[in-house]
Amino acid sequence: MTSEFDLAIIGGGVNGCGIARDAAGRGLSVFLCEMNDLASGTSSWSTKLVHGGLRYLEYYEFRLVREALMEREVLWKIAPHIIHPLRFVLPHHAGLRPAWLLRLGLFLYDHLGGRKLLPPTKSLDLRTDVTGKPLASGRFTKGFEYSDCAVDDARLVVLNARDALERGAEIRTRTRAIEARQRDGRWQLTLEDAVTGARSTIFARVLINAAGPWVHEFLAGTVGVNARANVRLVQGSHVVVPKLYDHDRAYILQNADGRIVFTIPYQDDYTLIGTTDRDYEGDPAAAKATQEEINYLCASVSEYFAMLLRPSQVVWGYSGVRPLYDDGASEAKAATRDYVFELDARDGNAPVLSVFGGKITTYRKLSEEALERVASYLPKIESSGSWTGGAALPGGEFDVHGLDALIASLQSRYPFLSKAHATRLARAYGTRAAKLLGEAATAADLGADFGATLTEAEVRYLMAQEWAHTAEDIVWRRSKLGLRLSPDQVAALDRWMARERAGHALA
Ligand SMILES: Cc1cc2nc3c(=O)[nH]c(=O)nc-3n(C[C@H](O)[C@H](O)[C@H](O)COP(=O)(O)OP(=O)(O)OC[C@H]3O[C@@H](n4cnc5c(N)ncnc54)[C@H](O)[C@@H]3O)c2cc1C
Repeated sequence: MTSEFDLAIIGGGVNGCGIARDAAGRGLSVFLCEMNDLASGTSSWSTKLVHGGLRYLEYYEFRLVREALMEREVLWKIAPHIIHPLRFVLPHHAGLRPAWLLRLGLFLYDHLGGRKLLPPTKSLDLRTDVTGKPLASGRFTKGFEYSDCAVDDARLVVLNARDALERGAEIRTRTRAIEARQRDGRWQLTLEDAVTGARSTIFARVLINAAGPWVHEFLAGTVGVNARANVRLVQGSHVVVPKLYDHDRAYILQNADGRIVFTIPYQDDYTLIGTTDRDYEGDPAAAKATQEEINYLCASVSEYFAMLLRPSQVVWGYSGVRPLYDDGASEAKAATRDYVFELDARDGNAPVLSVFGGKITTYRKLSEEALERVASYLPKIESSGSWTGGAALPGGEFDVHGLDALIASLQSRYPFLSKAHATRLARAYGTRAAKLLGEAATAADLGADFGATLTEAEVRYLMAQEWAHTAEDIVWRRSKLGLRLSPDQVAALDRWMARERAGHALA
């Protein structure tokens, strides 16, 4: 195994894994380390939208919105299993933004960037449309419906890592970069295995700091460089409740404080509600949804819907920290969502490029730009060309409208799968679902049943192909089966996985 790389990337979030994929596909030798599980940082705590960001138009972020709008269809095409179109209902709230302003914003949204497949905005009469039914009776008469996409954020990260690996990258999870030093014109990186404590060293021409909320800490603490840019940590929380309504559209609710809250159909039986914006200090990994945030989210739903949503109805909540570039905005909600790079290559030293900000939606463009910034330090790089937008992510090798056909073909080849099971596998693994199911002819051939359609065959696949190490990796990141499994079932899965790992270590 080599310890010499063109590129060493710190951080297995969407940005680190996106850069690794792009670089490996350009023929670079790539190393990526992630101190915990892939997507265990901010990248699994998002609202899970591939969206232009209607709200950012109010802050004149036209560059960002245009790029993000264009990315919606690009990403949908390369990952049609984990990304799907979603229609959003925007009720007009008398007393908040006037209808003409909403119409103008949505006109721009429809026309700023690259919409070819997604349907355009339309006006709604909420007195008669099905989407008016769950809303407070008589209060909302007019509304608009527009398009964006939903994404399984954590799986997007893993699929980028998997593709990078298949193109030659080395991906090491549960490995923290603890020291980075200049050595003979390149970087010497000391790594620590988070499980065994074992240390190792690798060398790289270029270091990319994609440590998300830890970007500053890594640069100042581990590399020893004082960043010129600052990161602004902004916490955002979500709650999940049993589904609030039966149709398949999301709502975008305007609040009196100028913020917006989404309600999104989630995992068939639930509604995802978020998010909040508050400045955050402390360990990013320790962010928890506060009671105040939960009350705020429930209150904003209760303001619009006919039913009163009580905090006691929340079945799950999560919180993440946005690693935003600090542009000096006074309020957290106004801080830019765009990304900024900082390159440090003083005195002929090997360069370190740090990533500030960014969105799930823009990770692919961010990756391209990151590589352009360091191209001159990498003799072999093919710096032009945008290959990642035209190559499917693992399992995504089918048409954007082909998911139903894929589900049907799984059910015909594996008749023992229920529709719900086949659908879940197709949405998670796309064409690779068949790889996971192999030659199984009966349900029993899939091995142990861990509950909620999770089988031994799937767990083995996730451990062998997707770096899953613990039950938490599987039930909260590779899937969201944590919503359906009991604590006892999760504990049993964890014990089973520990035995498997021990067996492999002995073999
Ligand atoms: C509440 C909320 C809602 C959001 N909603 C959306 C949305 O709907 N759509 C959208 O496009 N974007 C959204 N975003 C933004 C998006 O989630 C983030 O911008 C993105 O996930 C950041 O990815 P990242 O790779 O930079 O950081 P991260 O995902 O945090 O990855 C950084 C990784 O670096 C690792 N790391 C740190 N230090 C070290 C070290 N020394 N050694 C090894 N590894 C290390 C960490 O463990 C972490 O996994 C949202 C963000 C939040 C918080």
